[in-house]
Amino acid sequence: MGQQEHQPRRIAVIGGGIAGLAAAHRLVELDPRCSVTLMEAGPRPGGVLFTRHEDGFQVEQSADNFITTVPWGLNLCRRLGLEDQLVQTNPACRRTFVVRRGRMHLLPDGFLMMAPTRLWPLAVTGILSPLGKIRAAMEYLIPPRRDEADESMAAFVRRRLGREAFDRLVEPLVGAVYAADMEKLSVLATLPRFREMEREHGSLIRAMRRRMKNRSRAGRESGARYSMFVTIRDGLSSLVERIVSRLPADTVQVNTAATRIERLGDGWRVWTEENDECRIMNDECAATKPSVRNSSFITHHSSFDALILATPSPVTAKLLQTVDATLATRLASIDHSGTAIVSLGYESDRIGHPMNGMGVVAPAVERSPILACSFSSRKYPHRAPDGKELLRVFVGGARRPELAEMDDDRLLPLVLDELSRLLHIRGEPCFCRVAHWPATMPQYHVGHKELVAEIEAHAAALPNLQLAGNAYRGVGIPDCIHGGELAAERILETSRIATNRD
Ligand SMILES: Cc1cc2nc3c(=O)[nH]c(=O)nc-3n(C[C@H](O)[C@H](O)[C@H](O)COP(=O)(O)OP(=O)(O)OC[C@H]3O[C@@H](n4cnc5c(N)ncnc54)[C@H](O)[C@@H]3O)c2cc1C
Repeated sequence: MGQQEHQPRRIAVIGGGIAGLAAAHRLVELDPRCSVTLMEAGPRPGGVLFTRHEDGFQVEQSADNFITTVPWGLNLCRRLGLEDQLVQTNPACRRTFVVRRGRMHLLPDGFLMMAPTRLWPLAVTGILSPLGKIRAAMEYLIPPRRDEADESMAAFVRRRLGREAFDRLVEPLVGAVYAADMEKLSVLATLPRFREMEREHGSLIRAMRRRMKNRSRAGRESGARYSMFVTIRDGLSSLVERIVSRLPADTVQVNTAATRIERLGDGWRVWTEENDECRIMNDECAATKPSVRNSSFITHHSSFDALILATPSPVTAKLLQTVDATLATRLASIDHSGTAIVSLGYESDRIGHPMNGMGVVAPAVERSPILACSFSSRKYPHRAPDGKELLRVFVGGARRPELAEMDDDRLLPLVLDELSRLLHIRGEPCFCRVAHWPATMPQYHVGHKELVAEIEAHAAALPNLQLAGNAYRGVGIPDCIHGGELAAERILETSRIATNRD
């Protein structure tokens, strides 16, 4: 007789970011009988996802939207009943500016991340010199690379489009998203579809143009529903809260840090430190709870049939150190960069620039203190009260790591000076919040895919254990949701096989 017929399987999820939450939710969704405990070290679930509502502004402290070209974010929102809360980007502002010689220029229309879909806007842009434009257009003629070897994003783009298009267009666009050093960032781990385009079509420009034609035909036929990015009307914290509300009342334990794990037959023992204000979450609004200070710690251990580690990879490495030292070493080798987000509110009439776009990115060659600035209330107008604008400025990353952790007193003048110059702002902001995110962005360096394959092979040799989180197969919210859900499905699948065998 199988174990499941006697008692529910006890499964622990460690780490309450979106990956861990998606894993816990999927476990309960697929098998309401299993007993899930989600342990979160911090005072609220959600990890980096956190929305503040202050002075009429809706301020996302980290991520502020997610991509719709992969299905996992949208699917989860649908299953959670959040579909009618999804907000698309403002169609009047779907363009981006790029800084050149201290001034903002529009990104050529149809330039998508890495390559142009239209040649005329590239021909007339003020961002590239005539030689830079000729070299970029020659991409059509550059023979494709046919082997499977990885290369850095910088090497790939310089090879296809030339140095100037890399420095002035691709580096700021891609670098801002990944907070990464493009000389190290792996093309195969981050944007593999561009290598596929090269291989299949011989040229990125040709591939992008064909793709756009097919997409607009498919869009016309299917009546495509979403913009490339969407957000949730009440903020991304409401995604977190909705997931928590769908879990049994005693599932999520906050202020509970896993400190050690050890094998217990085919199961696991988890040692935790809980501070004395350890709370069990239910359907309350977790995100608004204040953090707990000056508390003492109590150590516990509990045993589980299966374990999902959804912690940042350096923490996962420490937890696995005594279980599989090689696996721990591989996990610890994934670098992380940090960023800070400066959210600034202004009276609209203080800003001289029309801000008729989603935001502006600054290439490394400009030596600007900022990586990018999102015109948050233009992109999603509900984020600022009438007559005001909300800007979100990104600093730090692999390019300027010191800025991610700089004191606000020193950081703010740098940011405000730069913004005043770019956007012709007069006077001081009426609202200001800085969120620091040290070592939160895993860096997918060249060879990352092989590294992850090795990590997964080692983890697969451990019984009833799965890894999830942004360190492996995508940093975006939908990728993290997908990773968490897959981890849950694999745990349930292996327990079903074990139960059938019993
Ligand atoms: C500034 C910023 C902007 C971003 N913008 C976007 C965006 O616009 N769109 C997008 O799609 N993505 C964006 N991302 C990326 C995306 O938000 C993250 O990759 C994703 O949310 C990470 O989820 P996670 O669950 O893997 O990790 P995390 O959110 O880091 O969660 C890990 C959790 O583990 C907990 N933990 C750590 N140690 C322990 C322990 N010992 N025991 C128990 N718990 C522990 C932590 O407290 C944390 O809650 C952004 C990221 C950042 C930092």
